[in-house]
Amino acid sequence: METRLLDLLVCPLCKGPLDHWRPPHQERQELVCHADRLAFPVRDGIPVMLEGEARSIGNEPPPPPVFPKPSAPDAA
Ligand SMILES: [Zn+2]
Repeated sequence: METRLLDLLVCPLCKGPLDHWRPPHQERQELVCHADRLAFPVRDGIPVMLEGEARSIGNEPPPPPVFPKPSAPDAA
């Protein structure tokens, strides 16, 4: 249910789709708008869609994907 809810959310600024960051090694989750380069926090499973609460991700590299990629054949 939570995932469904998060999937329905859009960026409050540009109304664009949000990327759900869920790093496996930490409990912290974020909803990221790549257009605005902002990451909105998810606290206790509740997304905080406030611009003032969002952090800038301007110069950060993207996190590892939420779902592991299927192991590609090693061509090398
Ligand atoms: Zn946006």
